[in-house]
Amino acid sequence: MDNTFFKFSDELNSLSDKAMQRCKNSFEEIDKLTEYNQQKVLLAFTENRVSETHFSGSTGYGLDDRGREVLESVFAQAFGAEDALVRHNFMSGTHTLSVALFGVLRPGDTMLCVTGTPYDTIHPVIGIGESKNEGSLADFGVKYKEIQLTENDKIDEDAVLKELENDKSIKMVYIQRSKGYDLRNTFSVEEIESISRKIKEKYSAIIMVDNCYGEFVQKLEPVQVGADLMAGSLIKNPGGGIAKTGGYIVGRKDLVHLCACRLTTAGIGKEIGATLGETRNMFMGFFHTPHVVGESLKTAVFAAALFELMGFKISPKVDEKRCDIIQTIELRNKECIEAFCRGLQSGAPVDSFVAPIPSEMPGYDSDIIMSAGAFTLGSSIELSADAPIREPYAVWMQGGLTFHSSKVAVMLAAQEVLKELNK
Ligand SMILES: *Cc1c(COP(=O)(O)O)cnc(C)c1O
Repeated sequence: MDNTFFKFSDELNSLSDKAMQRCKNSFEEIDKLTEYNQQKVLLAFTENRVSETHFSGSTGYGLDDRGREVLESVFAQAFGAEDALVRHNFMSGTHTLSVALFGVLRPGDTMLCVTGTPYDTIHPVIGIGESKNEGSLADFGVKYKEIQLTENDKIDEDAVLKELENDKSIKMVYIQRSKGYDLRNTFSVEEIESISRKIKEKYSAIIMVDNCYGEFVQKLEPVQVGADLMAGSLIKNPGGGIAKTGGYIVGRKDLVHLCACRLTTAGIGKEIGATLGETRNMFMGFFHTPHVVGESLKTAVFAAALFELMGFKISPKVDEKRCDIIQTIELRNKECIEAFCRGLQSGAPVDSFVAPIPSEMPGYDSDIIMSAGAFTLGSSIELSADAPIREPYAVWMQGGLTFHSSKVAVMLAAQEVLKELNK
């Protein structure tokens, strides 16, 4: 297709055409997935009789906020869960996960992470490393253990079951579905089902999933195949690019209640929380999510195809099954990472003129460069890329509200990287 408004070299245009050819099968699969999940979400809206009156929002205590209750019931149904806590008061994904962990765990309990070391920002919540006395789980006497993945990046099921047998204080098994800043694969719902089933046969530990970036990437969600609780951020998939902030926790009713008691207070739980007019955005974003996830997946597949043609190592592969919206590209050095982020940023609808540079970030060990030209600050369901400046110099790219716009941004990134390579 002719690039009418953005000019690329003939070399890049031809690579892009080839990449689009490579994407055909995946795009068909993505369309089927989107259709399935869109119907699922629509049914949750119609069966819960969502109405314009639910958008008005409350102030003060937010008692009897009907919109909030219906929203939570829509989330619960679409995710196949007993109950949901969906609030704009969750300030980030990490905050949401933290509320869930503190909601459920008690002094003397052990949390067992079975997917290796979790996402960087969760370390201070658990209290991995030296105590800073900031109120981590460790500070409150909650113990932590982790099981490393097997050599080929699978959950070491035997080791997990053995640990559960040996340590009766294990109250929670924690699964991080997405890879975070790791180069492992993301866990599929099928893999989560397998380990959950084996655990449930014999043990009563609560299975909790960090579902960030995984929502609506497959037909089923972790809580439909054995997980008891899962959580994520509304400025990732389930906000559909429209929710301005927030998070969700869904799962077993008794556990969601405990999480609500942590977010608000004991004795009050889900009963309060003024929505301040945010409910409409959350409804509308959730309604758009299956489609937006589809656009993000297409963007990821296209980037994979294009950068593979350019000779870079990518994960997942073009036709590989996807379990989250993240695409990693190993760019081999700092200069190519900066070129990629600069190019991607120049194709963003917001802040296209800004040049991202690496810098320190709270919660992370090494300098990070981030490319994000988003309507919502930090939103990563909008096209964005992050890279810690460290081996193996990979960039983690995710999101894209509309494929056609994101495709241009990915090509601009490729153009900058080609320039860097030809220096
Ligand atoms: C994004 C993410 C988080 C944390 O979310 P923030 O909103 O950045 O705090 C946790 N786990 C995983 C796997 C994530 O991708």
